[in-house]
Amino acid sequence: MTSRIIIAVDGYSSTGKSTFAKAIAKEMGYVYIDTGAMYRAVTLLAMRSGCVLDDGSMDEERLRRLLSGHPSADVSFRTSGSGGASETWLDGENVEKQIRTIEISRVVSHVAALPFVRQYVDKKLREIGLRKGVVMDGRDIGTAVFPDAELKIFMTARPQVRAMRRYEEMTARGHHVSYEEILGNLSERDYIDTHRETAPLRQADDAVLLDNSDMTVEDQIMWFRDLLKTRHLCGY
Ligand code: C5P
Repeated sequence: MTSRIIIAVDGYSSTGKSTFAKAIAKEMGYVYIDTGAMYRAVTLLAMRSGCVLDDGSMDEERLRRLLSGHPSADVSFRTSGSGGASETWLDGENVEKQIRTIEISRVVSHVAALPFVRQYVDKKLREIGLRKGVVMDGRDIGTAVFPDAELKIFMTARPQVRAMRRYEEMTARGHHVSYEEILGNLSERDYIDTHRETAPLRQADDAVLLDNSDMTVEDQIMWFRDLLKTRHLCGY
């Protein structure tokens, strides 16, 4: 049996991490895990449970109690269909759609900066990683969650390119948002993610940089195949 590895895909907001990570997971026959979805689901839980106050501040104690099971709240991934992709569930409800709104995007980086939230999510991610054969995308997978991941990729792209991609994706899904609002949200999330104290977003020393500003998805897959060859990772 060939051994399987962990592939960490980190990078800035809306750099196409999930599209790329999903494609390479398919290529490898691996499971794809969107770790941002877990932070988004915790944010949805916080908003629904009144932990996000009207003035934008957070009732941290209440959220801490919820995540430690009082009353119990559970965020989980379940694999659906044949593609190996996972979907995000909150207390028995599939919340894939509900976590992709601009309202969640506005709050999620604040929630993700809380150390006890990161501990909660990290524990779940490490359990999934035990099985290996997984591609995880996020902000701190190669630096904090799996510092020993066998392959680490760090993604970036020009901010305007990222904002336009996200804008097209959201309007296609029927969300009413402006390009400027999206660009503002991306810059704000990048700032919070790179400046937080716990597990800030940064490129791991041993991560390979992928700037996909001028690349198609197909170009990125070709780039990945070449990377596997140069790293002698074909067949994993
Ligand atoms: O990937 P996505 O944009 O959906 O992630 C939402 C937010 O979750 C990010 O802006 C970031 O604040 C947080 N996040 C994180 N660590 C991860 C994944 C996401 O802090 N591993």
